[in-house]
Amino acid sequence: MRHLFILLCVVWSFTFAQDTQITILHSNDCHGHVLPFDIAGQQKVGGISPRMTYIKKIREKLTTKKQHLLLLDAGDLNTGDPFSDMLKGEPAVRIMNKMRYDAMAVGNHEFDLRLEDLLQQQKLAKFPYLSANVVYKDTQKLIFPPYIIIQKGDIKIGIFGMTTDDTPIVSTYGNDSRLQFLKHEVVIPKMIRELRPQVDFLIGVFHISLHQVVHLCKQFPGMDIVIGGHSHIITPEPIKVGKTLIAEAGSYGLLMGKFDLTFRNKKLVKWKHRNVGINLKSPIMSRGSNKVAVHASQKILDLDKEVEKIFQPYRQKVGKLLDEPLGVATKNFKRGRRHSPQSSTIGNLISDALRERTRADIALHNVGGIRADILKGNITYRDVKRVLPFSNSLYIYTLKGKDVLKILQMMADFDPTTGRFFEVSGLKFHINRGKIHDVFVGKKKLEKEKTYTLAVNSFIAQGGDGFSVFKELSQKVDTSFLLCDVLCDYIRERKIISPDRTARFTWKTSGR
Ligand SMILES: [Zn+2]
Repeated sequence: MRHLFILLCVVWSFTFAQDTQITILHSNDCHGHVLPFDIAGQQKVGGISPRMTYIKKIREKLTTKKQHLLLLDAGDLNTGDPFSDMLKGEPAVRIMNKMRYDAMAVGNHEFDLRLEDLLQQQKLAKFPYLSANVVYKDTQKLIFPPYIIIQKGDIKIGIFGMTTDDTPIVSTYGNDSRLQFLKHEVVIPKMIRELRPQVDFLIGVFHISLHQVVHLCKQFPGMDIVIGGHSHIITPEPIKVGKTLIAEAGSYGLLMGKFDLTFRNKKLVKWKHRNVGINLKSPIMSRGSNKVAVHASQKILDLDKEVEKIFQPYRQKVGKLLDEPLGVATKNFKRGRRHSPQSSTIGNLISDALRERTRADIALHNVGGIRADILKGNITYRDVKRVLPFSNSLYIYTLKGKDVLKILQMMADFDPTTGRFFEVSGLKFHINRGKIHDVFVGKKKLEKEKTYTLAVNSFIAQGGDGFSVFKELSQKVDTSFLLCDVLCDYIRERKIISPDRTARFTWKTSGR
């Protein structure tokens, strides 16, 4: 009996020694935020250099314990920070190579680069850009590898990527006629069928809205983990749908999600997940509850020397780019006078640029957000940054004509001398003693029940300047396009710009 007991103990400990430990670190929606940045109430958070310090530390720790690291990103590496945008995302890719990422999903904002530039960027990467649903329209051939199979210890892991199928609407060049984005519902079950028999563990890296991911996992069981991106949501803990665990790590590299997985006999027997903040001075609460989504960092991570060395030449290059002329203004573009509200030449220019980029029916821009004039002569990026200094992104709303009227009525109700009104594009109207008249969208009269698209910046979308009506409208998309970049592109494409002096609205206040 005693012998049997000892034997059992030996077998037991032997089995334990066979356990395979795999840690997954995941990021998403970094949007070019390679440098540390400020958020409400906190300075110098995130940044790719402290992230590197963290990854190196974890990798070292795991290696000494003979454990394994899997490093994944769920896409939208591009668009959102001028430093990165001007360099077409190059610094981020080169540093991700050094971090030894295993794979990245292709996000919609990867298509803010022209296809040729995106393929060039992918070539620079030493890790695969995965997408199982982006094809060339004419041949139906995949543009990116759909999946990879990686061996970590004795575990064979399949990883496949997905790109949101509304990319043609929510990216600059996603509407390229050579491209087609196949439906999630068609591709995901096919991938599961193909990969499941070949691997021990199946991971999806999905750049698809979180609510859609949850729905897709309900419809198609068979994935063990889905690493999500696109919604910029921090899941305080993974969402469990059947046997699938879903996690998303916010945005901008503010944190990394961390799964610690234990496998025995090639089966997952234990898992743990937490969100690790990158130099967070205070915790981040999860939306709509008082749960902590990410704890404050216990120790401030230093900058990584290797990364700083990579940055150096780029810093010089960007300094030069800031002063390079984008185009020429034939005359001054001036702001209007706040006490007598009317369209201004610079307001017309900005709202036209926003409307063109989003292909929306209407674009609005709050006059308070225009901080400088553009003067006759050469225009540089630095000049444009002075006009639009805030890091606001661009939202697209889908709304009814009656909602547009509600917005205009709100504007008419404010005292115009406070500057709480919009410059407009694609829209014409009159305000007479607080009443709205003759509203036209393009050349046609506005119809109350017709659906329109409207572009506006993130400040107003969050109810800025008192326009609470925008918070009530639910059909909206954050395009992540920075206003400043949109205007730069608009000028660069035209080379020469001249003021449009059309009065797009009139406002009679006397007798109010
Ligand atoms: Zn996205």
